[in-house]
Amino acid sequence: MPNRHILIVEDETKLAVLLKEYLERAELRVSCLERGDQVVAFVKHHHPDLVLLDLMLPGMDGMEVCRELRKFTGVPIIMITARVDEIDRLLGLELGADDYICKPYSPREVVARVKAVLRRIHAQPSEKRLSSGGIDLDEETHQVWVESHEIKVTPSEFRLLKALMAYPGRVFSRADLVNLVQGYEFEGYERTIDSHIKNLRKKIAAAGMKREAIMAVYGEGYKFNPAA
Ligand code: CA
Repeated sequence: MPNRHILIVEDETKLAVLLKEYLERAELRVSCLERGDQVVAFVKHHHPDLVLLDLMLPGMDGMEVCRELRKFTGVPIIMITARVDEIDRLLGLELGADDYICKPYSPREVVARVKAVLRRIHAQPSEKRLSSGGIDLDEETHQVWVESHEIKVTPSEFRLLKALMAYPGRVFSRADLVNLVQGYEFEGYERTIDSHIKNLRKKIAAAGMKREAIMAVYGEGYKFNPAA
């Protein structure tokens, strides 16, 4: 993916410079900002293809930046946090970030994650609509309907639901789902799947569905239950 434009928002200059080098070696174009309150204006003017967003920033913190960006753009956002336990909290807030990376990270890992997100975003969907058990997905618009009521889901929730619905009844382990949702395997993030599932179930129930569309299989993982 040559020439895709990545915006790094990071106030630790050394880290930003190192990341920039690695991303540029991967043929990506890179811009850097050090302050959170510069991000919205930059994105509006330059339309980057992906934003790597540190959580702790001067001016405006990463969470607030993410919220502000989601008001006007679906640009892929990878949030970077210094603490693994913050990730669950961030997921619970449904900020709409596409991925999370924990510090300290290897720049190589970051490049791999950036590429995975870009591939996912730019992949051509083979089927545009998926319908099962009263739930409909539109892969082009990322809309989801539960018994004809539209629900709002985050990009990660969408991918998770899509993966489960594509194979109704099949049990997916958390590791399978991490791989399907994020495009690579990363052991530490399996528990984030539980948070995504919890949020999805809450949204599906809130739309009025009485039965459990996503079922936990004890000791194994999750499956989609298509039976009405
Ligand atoms: Ca920082």
